[in-house]
Amino acid sequence: MQQIDLELQRGQQELNEVENQLSDDKALVAAESKLASQKEQLEDAKKKQKNSEWELEDLQEKVKRIDNKLYSGTTKDPKELVNLEKEVKVFKSKISTNEDALLGLMSQVEEIEAKAKTSGEEFERLKREWQQRQETLEQRKTEIETELAELRENRDGLAQQIDSEALNIYERIRLMRGQAVVKVERGRCQGCHITVSTSQWQKAKAGDLIQCNSCSRILHV
Ligand SMILES: [Zn+2]
Repeated sequence: MQQIDLELQRGQQELNEVENQLSDDKALVAAESKLASQKEQLEDAKKKQKNSEWELEDLQEKVKRIDNKLYSGTTKDPKELVNLEKEVKVFKSKISTNEDALLGLMSQVEEIEAKAKTSGEEFERLKREWQQRQETLEQRKTEIETELAELRENRDGLAQQIDSEALNIYERIRLMRGQAVVKVERGRCQGCHITVSTSQWQKAKAGDLIQCNSCSRILHV
């Protein structure tokens, strides 16, 4: 029974570990949120780029209109002509600044796009790995559960064969010490390493239920 209980303990431990691993999707969630935030950044940068392009078109349109006025010959007043020339100059300098900004924004969009692509691939890879792992773990979980059910059945069968008083003692020690039955090796209890008396050793060898004087564990020779 001690053997079965130890196996049950090990099985339960492994089952807990497998269940922990099954529910652990931290890496996947982290990769997903990284990707989502990069996509958001990308949308933002694209919006800025669009705005900048519209502004630029607007300025170019303004310059075109003034140029028309200047060269169509409809404006004859020299003062007004000078003013229009000045206006064109201002707009042209704005266009130049805007073009530089637009180039910067475009390269920013490209950069974020590349990053988001890498993150997307990384996320897909992690997801595939995670799904495969889930399958393996689910399989292992089923195996352990079957093993545990068999062990419990064996244990129930054994419990019916053991004298109830002895079983009580066994359960009490197991509760206290974890392992209730220990071997005697080279005359020492393997639970606490204290020397076992010869008479105890002999009785245990004969099959009596003998407990260690020091740690109370049941001695098995
Ligand atoms: Zn002992």
